[in-house]
Amino acid sequence: MEKLTNLCVYCGSSSGRIDAYARAAREFAHAMVERNIGLVYGGASVGIMGTLADEMLRLGGQAVGVIPESLLRRELAHPGLSELHVTPSMHARKTLMAELADGFVALPGGIGTFEEIFEVWTWAQLGFHNKPCGLLNVAGYYDALTAFLDHAAAEQFVGVETRSMLFVESEPTALLDRIVTCKPAVLSKWVGHGET
Ligand code: AMP
Repeated sequence: MEKLTNLCVYCGSSSGRIDAYARAAREFAHAMVERNIGLVYGGASVGIMGTLADEMLRLGGQAVGVIPESLLRRELAHPGLSELHVTPSMHARKTLMAELADGFVALPGGIGTFEEIFEVWTWAQLGFHNKPCGLLNVAGYYDALTAFLDHAAAEQFVGVETRSMLFVESEPTALLDRIVTCKPAVLSKWVGHGET
């Protein structure tokens, strides 16, 4: 792929139970700034989202937020971002985030995070884009999910190729290296059915 300039990172609007999640978000920001990759994210100042953006900015990196008008106050928009886009709807938010980014990663988060990474991964399966998708499996947070995804592939509801399109790593640098160097399959046809 061409040089990856902006990465969309989905992550929790909460901080989670243990410090390891916030620590990993800061490490991930460090790895991004080191590689001169800008952040596109949901624009909040709270939870792992806020930790990630704060660290990007502290290190001199770019942090671009995209937030729907309806969540502007509820999610406490980050006041110091490089840029903040306010969209009329959640759908417009997700579309703009996807357009602005060359790849997608989920750090630990809740159902908003799950929904967001699953949506862009589904779009990759359908060939709507060929941007890399990844999960940062901090402290085993996504172990049960990845085991289930392997089960879904074994049961032939998720194609093997589709499963392989979601990179899973536990170290920020390892995940970013895979995202930056990957050569995603260019899917020119529907691969959701009959794929082996
Ligand atoms: P969460 O992982 O649930 O803490 O949420 C992380 C981010 O996902 C927040 O910016 C939420 O606004 C966003 N979010 C929550 N629900 C949805 C949804 N249904 N579609 C897209 N984004 C969502």
